[in-house]
Amino acid sequence: MPERRVLDPGVDEFREAGHRLIDWIADHFENIDRVPVMARIEPGEISAALRREPSEEGRPYAELMREFEGTILPGVTQWNHPGFFAWFAVTGSQAGILGELLSAAMNVNGMLWKSCPAATELEATVLDWLAQALGLPTEWFGIINDTASINTFLALAAAREAAGLDVRGSGMTGRDLPPLRIYCSEQAHSSVEKGALALGFGAEGVVKIGTDDADAIRIDELERAVSRDRERGARPCAIVATVGTTATAAVDSVRAAAAIARRERVWLHVDAAYAGTAMICPELRPLWDGIEAADSVVVNPHKWLFTPIDCSVLYTARPDVLKETFSLVPEYLRTSDGATVNYMDYGLQLGRRFRSLKLWMVMEHYGLERMRAVIRSHIEWGGRLASLLSARDDVELLAPQRFSVVVFRRVVRRGDSIDEEASERATAGLVERINASGGAFLATTRLRGRFGIRVAIGNGMTEWRHVERIVLALEEDD
Ligand code: PLP
Repeated sequence: MPERRVLDPGVDEFREAGHRLIDWIADHFENIDRVPVMARIEPGEISAALRREPSEEGRPYAELMREFEGTILPGVTQWNHPGFFAWFAVTGSQAGILGELLSAAMNVNGMLWKSCPAATELEATVLDWLAQALGLPTEWFGIINDTASINTFLALAAAREAAGLDVRGSGMTGRDLPPLRIYCSEQAHSSVEKGALALGFGAEGVVKIGTDDADAIRIDELERAVSRDRERGARPCAIVATVGTTATAAVDSVRAAAAIARRERVWLHVDAAYAGTAMICPELRPLWDGIEAADSVVVNPHKWLFTPIDCSVLYTARPDVLKETFSLVPEYLRTSDGATVNYMDYGLQLGRRFRSLKLWMVMEHYGLERMRAVIRSHIEWGGRLASLLSARDDVELLAPQRFSVVVFRRVVRRGDSIDEEASERATAGLVERINASGGAFLATTRLRGRFGIRVAIGNGMTEWRHVERIVLALEEDD
């Protein structure tokens, strides 16, 4: 039977199931407000409900969709829900979903220009548009990878190579190397340390600098740490500044960090994974003043530019160093087509997804104006939420609202002072109640010892009424 020898003997079944699937997704979004944001299940529930063994005979799409709806969906935390305010949203959009679908259908591997010319050229073009949109130097080189963690790792690897120690040639062991150092604030994302650990800087090689009242890196302390390490014979390799920290969206001074980096001849990497894409709004760009002096910067369209995870962009002013660090071309990957960029030369992975297709679809379908309007709304609602919260005497903001992030806690007063333990219990009770309601999902954090609730607005479908649920939940107790 010839059908048994080919996987998909025709396209009719696919066409029918595909139409149904798009309808299912459209209905899902139309009714999203009735779906709880946070999965309401216990650990192990989903795996216990799934079949024990794989199917021998195969199963029709309709049956699989029933299983998805009945068994899998209840365990899905709805990151694409307008009430999702936890961590940083990985905001998908309808255009992004269609782009992702096309990319799956083309199923190319964009390792070389030759392996899919369109993947390379669309990536370069879309990243040039994005650089223009963000006000970054358009001569910078951009590359899409999966996550900011990987992009920061690549930047730190380039920084180590740029330090002139010939780690690529001679490795790091069995030789006389000075201790290597990188610097970031104590508020920097853990991906900085993780990347440094993987690159052999060691935990001691990551110098965490204290922060000021605005949760930004203390420049005086950074300066002192770099010169102290030099005096002790260590080799400073990189400074990582964050624009939009994970806990409170705080902003390190890129200009001041760049001045130190230039003077000390170390690499400056800027982690703008969350806040970077908001720079499509020109009025926000003073917040990363000096960015053109960075050696590299990471921004995540999958966090706040409506592109489904994963899509993270690394820009660098020094692609030559990135290439020197990573390029390794075996005979079977040699080409003679005169291509100027083969993206496999600029990172660890060989195989590369066609991620630019979804970013292209998002940027071109919505256009910058519409995306700016949505980002501005998120920031405005963050501000409205912060002012409504701070007007209450049973609530305290733990940090000023920055970008679309608001961090607050419930306070229980005893006379003139705050009962810390009771405040923590009340804050935990509030966030549990809001999350259990299904209408919103918030994360928690701890700032200077205080337990708080963290709200980050970033979904393209969010409206003020979703954010307002947080205020209404507080009012229920009044
Ligand atoms: N940098 C910052 C400031 C972040 O907040 C995060 C994640 O939230 C990351 C980096 C890591 O992002 P990714 O999941 O893309 O690795």
